[in-house]
Amino acid sequence: MYKKLFIPGPTHVREEILQAQAVPMIGHRAKEYSDLQAAVTPKLQKLLYTTQPVFLFASSSTGVMEAAIRNCVAKKCLNTVCGEFSRRWHEITKANGKDCDVLEVPIGKAVLPEMIDEKLATGQYDAVTVVHNETSTGVMNPIEEIAEVMKKYPDVMFLVDSVSSMAGVKIEFDRLGIDVLLAGVQKCFALPPGLTVCAVSEKALKKAETVPYRGLYFDFIDMYKFYQKNQTPATPAISLIQALNKQMDDILAEGLENRWQRHKDMAKFVQDWARKYWALFSDERYLSLTVTNIVNTREVDIKALNDELGRRGAMISDGYGPLKGKCFRIAHMGDLTLDDLRWLTAQIEDILKLS
Ligand SMILES: *Cc1c(COP(=O)(O)O)cnc(C)c1O
Repeated sequence: MYKKLFIPGPTHVREEILQAQAVPMIGHRAKEYSDLQAAVTPKLQKLLYTTQPVFLFASSSTGVMEAAIRNCVAKKCLNTVCGEFSRRWHEITKANGKDCDVLEVPIGKAVLPEMIDEKLATGQYDAVTVVHNETSTGVMNPIEEIAEVMKKYPDVMFLVDSVSSMAGVKIEFDRLGIDVLLAGVQKCFALPPGLTVCAVSEKALKKAETVPYRGLYFDFIDMYKFYQKNQTPATPAISLIQALNKQMDDILAEGLENRWQRHKDMAKFVQDWARKYWALFSDERYLSLTVTNIVNTREVDIKALNDELGRRGAMISDGYGPLKGKCFRIAHMGDLTLDDLRWLTAQIEDILKLS
């Protein structure tokens, strides 16, 4: 049976978006493809409030996290860790043989600007990794305040994973001075997986020129060379880009401010519901606007709950990693609506006889 996805990726994909992929194939060196990339790029720049390049990689987000490290780290990287996805960035940095340190906070807590400031003041680092929205814990790090601190260190690359926030939460790339901002499209963009959107600053391109062994597939310099012709060095995910182009029209038709507000409204609704029947896992001051991590205070069998939700046409997520069974997560991102969440929470209340 069809299940509406309330999991933090892949998210629910609307029928019109699925259909937008079902158009005749075009050659990736043909004018038709360049026209497609030329059409979608300014829409993405609008979404990210930037005039700088926005690349499209045929890859899931993890590949482009690796790209950011390979292109932007020469000396030493500070990996901020507040959960499993931010820890992945540390694993990637080590796996690429780059010198790095971890700045870790307990799960449920946020990475704070003063912690980063203290580390960067040592002058050891040329890059910092931050996960904007830690999907595994339901924490949204204070990116605006972190960006203020980063302005004191203009030579340090500011690398941001916004996988589960881009297109759901306002992130002003140019104003915040971010150098790399990336997100796979299977989360707030509400597209099928396989494509990653990545804004890269001109400063990051300059830096990449100085970094040896950037690899080949994810080389920003090569990518930029082709970008100027509205192409990519290797074959792009053409069908997904067709769907992205349609989705960007729909996002801009909804209106960016309306989209940000819808995500805030959905987050507030789920947070209030969680406070009423359960408890919130994460620091109240830094709750995610796209996914809520709920403590399983009633010690229900999450798998059995999800099985019954499945019979009713929905799916939620268990706690991530060490939180499996102890928490469950409801995603409220992409094209879901407040009505969808009202329906979902009513189903859970009915199944568990909550009152
Ligand atoms: C989902 C997710 C990832 C991993 O994305 P893939 O597309 O599976 O590679 C990385 N970071 C965050 C914050 C995520 O939510």
